Amino acid sequence: MKPVKVLRTLYVVLILSAAASSAPTKTPPPDIFLITIDTLRADHVHCYGYTNVATPALDALAKDGVRFTQAFTPSPITNTSHASILTGLLPGSHGVTDFGVPLSAAHPTVAELLKAQNYHTAAFIGAVILDSKSLAPGFDRGFDYYDNFPEHSSTNSRWGRLERRGMDVVEHAENWLSKHPAGPHFVWVHLYDPHDPYEPPPPYSQMYKDHLYDGEIAYADSALAHFITYLKRSGRYGNSVIVAVGDHGEGLGEHHEDTHGIFLYDSTTHVPLIVKLPGPRGAGTVVTAQVRTLDIMPTLLELASASAPQKKDGDSLEPYFVGKTEAARPAFGETDYPLRFGWAPLRSVRSEGFKFIEAPRPELYDLPLDPAEMTNKYEPQDARVQKSRAMLAELRSAESKVQGSSSPAQESALPDPKEKIDEQNLLHAALIAAEDNRPADARKTLEKVLALDPKSPTVLRQLGELELQAGHYVQAVHHLKGAVEIRPDDAAALFHEGQALEKTRDLGGARDALEASLKLMPGQFDARLLLGQVYLGLKDPAAAEDQFEAALLLQSGNVEAQLGLADAQITKGNFAEAAQSLQALSKVQAKNAQVFDLLAKAYSGLGKKAEAQQAAIRAKVLSNNK
Ligand SMILES: [Zn+2]
Repeated sequence: MKPVKVLRTLYVVLILSAAASSAPTKTPPPDIFLITIDTLRADHVHCYGYTNVATPALDALAKDGVRFTQAFTPSPITNTSHASILTGLLPGSHGVTDFGVPLSAAHPTVAELLKAQNYHTAAFIGAVILDSKSLAPGFDRGFDYYDNFPEHSSTNSRWGRLERRGMDVVEHAENWLSKHPAGPHFVWVHLYDPHDPYEPPPPYSQMYKDHLYDGEIAYADSALAHFITYLKRSGRYGNSVIVAVGDHGEGLGEHHEDTHGIFLYDSTTHVPLIVKLPGPRGAGTVVTAQVRTLDIMPTLLELASASAPQKKDGDSLEPYFVGKTEAARPAFGETDYPLRFGWAPLRSVRSEGFKFIEAPRPELYDLPLDPAEMTNKYEPQDARVQKSRAMLAELRSAESKVQGSSSPAQESALPDPKEKIDEQNLLHAALIAAEDNRPADARKTLEKVLALDPKSPTVLRQLGELELQAGHYVQAVHHLKGAVEIRPDDAAALFHEGQALEKTRDLGGARDALEASLKLMPGQFDARLLLGQVYLGLKDPAAAEDQFEAALLLQSGNVEAQLGLADAQITKGNFAEAAQSLQALSKVQAKNAQVFDLLAKAYSGLGKKAEAQQAAIRAKVLSNNK
């Protein structure tokens, strides 16, 4: 027998034995589609009993699948919640507690583990906050393709720059599937539409004009319908696993919270969760036991016959599919988002019909009697409070082991977010206005917050940045100085203060602010460059040279830093060195007037009059042609 044939026989034997031992049937591994719908409250979906919206796609999926009526996210913000869905870990374990915090490679994701099982993997996101090149580093791990946003956007509109409409997201996913027919597939589709601002396209903008949030939900549902129709038409629906889940809910004014992120009430933590299994399995099942979005990752791995990682906070939902259990699972909630504004973070436990929220003013709600969480029954001696506190303490010690850090600092001295929520609503509105290039609206809103809280570092910094962009440098300095006084370790506020001071020609002040900012965060290229220019203005060429050299270490070949360096060398009298680098630069920057202007100075320092004159003429022609 030839060696090739031996191998082939062995291969066949291995395949047969693998099939016999693990797969219950001989069907191929299922395609898996994870659909996350942003900002979707469970009680605003038609099949969850809400009659003011039409969600036919979700309703049909529930008919074909298992619908969980009591599913909870551990986090009310997008990146944190999605990291929990992808890793099966609580926020304190995976560490993605805010936007921009990288998802550590130490935590395997469902995409990585399915890819290891020969799955073809792709992710299609609907918002720039999940872009793995900017605000969601590490989220692309395990995906063959991750549909990030273009680096440079030509548009001022939200669409394409910050958000994609659901229909665009699903079309990207459908095109990818058509071009990559070989399965099995794991595809994550993220529909961002219900997130504020609520701007559904027609006809939803008209049909839902008095409740636009529902209009966004109806529109997102229509995108889901498009995707499911595509799956059916391409023959992928029958054997697939489809999970549809909200990443978190929306305050809609309950507890005075307009949007989400600050609180841990059911309004933002109770989400729809529907799992459609391969074939007719589980069709139409309704599970009323409390489960968590943490349970999605272990479930998908089990359905793909892949093993789950050792460390996970969720458990497979499989026992509910086969009616093996009705047991409720305790749901933890965490939000560090208030810390961003200088307020206390919150932790919660939802278990056995009550919710406990740890806060400077703790809360306890009796959920069967008080589902809207309106009457705080907190008593320190209450057994439920004591049990919850013990559970949270145990969790903290487990999380600090995973994170390898010490236990979190005592935050009790910070204000309770309950006292600050009106401020947060205004701050959020100002942020959206600034994002949408409506600076006047943003300023008006921020000034309102400043009237409520004249010492809010967040407001002062946002207002300072706004005035800086508008060219109102004196006002910018005023606000940014205020922000830095309250929060001296805010490197970004110090950098902006330096920028504004430089514009008012207070070079000494600019130097101090930029030095302080760089001491906190040494790798800021823009701050190094500006500080070099400030030192040139202060007639300190040696210090300027240091900064431009440091800037070039961060971005080698940067033209502005090279020009600054040459300028500093000329000021110091190092004409030969400056002339040499400027000559090289003039070849690649043949249309840059500043290059020739500096070259003229360098030649003149070297006594080369003719060359100096030639370079000066060139500089003049170029600057006139501008
Ligand atoms: Zn979200």
